[in-house]
Amino acid sequence: MEGPFSLDLIPVDGASGDESMWEGSLPEEGSIPIPVPIPIPIPSLGAVSEVSAAGVIGTGTHNTGIGHGILPTQVVALTLLLASGEILECSEAANPEVFQAARLHLGCLGIVLSVTFQCVPEFRLREVAFPSTLPQVLEQLEEHLERSQYFRFLWFPHSDHVRIIYQDPTDRPPCSSSSWIWDYAVGYYLLEFLLWISTFIPALVPWINRCFFRLLFSSRVEKVARSHRIFNYECRFRQHVQDWAIPIGKTREALLELREALDAVPGLRAHFPVEVRFSKGDEVWLSPCFRRDSAFINVILYRPYGKAVPIREYWSTYERIMRKHDGRPHWAKAHSCTRKELEKMFPAFPKFCSVREKLDPTGIFLNSYLEKVFY
Ligand SMILES: Cc1cc2nc3c(=O)[nH]c(=O)nc-3n(C[C@H](O)[C@H](O)[C@H](O)COP(=O)(O)OP(=O)(O)OC[C@H]3O[C@@H](n4cnc5c(N)ncnc54)[C@H](O)[C@@H]3O)c2cc1C
Repeated sequence: MEGPFSLDLIPVDGASGDESMWEGSLPEEGSIPIPVPIPIPIPSLGAVSEVSAAGVIGTGTHNTGIGHGILPTQVVALTLLLASGEILECSEAANPEVFQAARLHLGCLGIVLSVTFQCVPEFRLREVAFPSTLPQVLEQLEEHLERSQYFRFLWFPHSDHVRIIYQDPTDRPPCSSSSWIWDYAVGYYLLEFLLWISTFIPALVPWINRCFFRLLFSSRVEKVARSHRIFNYECRFRQHVQDWAIPIGKTREALLELREALDAVPGLRAHFPVEVRFSKGDEVWLSPCFRRDSAFINVILYRPYGKAVPIREYWSTYERIMRKHDGRPHWAKAHSCTRKELEKMFPAFPKFCSVREKLDPTGIFLNSYLEKVFY
């Protein structure tokens, strides 16, 4: 199979883009990835870079920082191979309607052949992480958002412990205090083993959360590195996740309700962390941040050694709270929303549907998940 699978990047502020870092590559047989040979100096990246450009924009991948939008907001143009066989160039200027839909395309508008990202000059980030408590961080949310360009925090459920993480551009030289023993022997292998034990003794989960906070997350740590090395972080082993976006003003209420629900329902166990990230409102039709600054609240249940863990009760408690606070689900993560609900949650959902029906009238790009979303 041959094809011009390219990833185009535009330098800004007169900076020169280093093309050698971005060239695209041909797809492997049976799949059509557009691999991103990192580093990509775009203003914001998600937790992993071993992903495709079309894939990350297709599901609305986000990082954190109230001045930054989700990854699709960094797309300035893309090329689609339509169901009809036609190749369509899209941008604000060319086919703007399709462009608005295709920046977060769910894989159902056509095959993305190229994506042009707005990039920035390469930059270094300084990460400063320090402990706090849930009431404190919620009380000082505005200050944290102002103080750090890429602010996020991790809450350790069944406790009030919080890890605050600031990331900001810097000229300081690279430095790191990471250690294999703490980060992997303890933070990965021992954790996975203890979580596996907790599948037999669920009452251990709150103890694990508190214990790992003390061991790994209760002191101040700093590191400096190129931006992608700081944006990306270890996501550990197999897991179930949900990550809804709620209007930023509802962050405090929603998290306090989640804490109350976890305390109130006996037997409900939540793994650490609950990760809270922030994103700027945007105009991307299917974006969870469409026209509102948002907080993403990511909840996690690990599957140690691939073992199944009960999720129903935690998921339904979390979803009830997210729905109550006008939440919108992340498209790459679990949710139980029907088309009717999605129409209410995403104001531009009907516009997206009409573009999809025009571009792919026979539904060749649909699968069973998308059929549930659209029918
Ligand atoms: C370890 C891990 C960490 C993560 N961290 C974050 C995070 O920090 N923030 C966040 O928001 N999300 C995060 N995610 C979710 C992740 O960003 C999304 O799942 C993303 O879509 C993965 O990209 P991919 O290349 O694997 O996409 P895929 O899963 O391969 O594809 C995603 C969608 O795009 C479509 N697609 C892919 N290529 C094309 C193409 N060429 N043309 C048309 N459609 C296409 C697929 O059909 C599918 O619908 C994480 C996921 C993992 C596994």
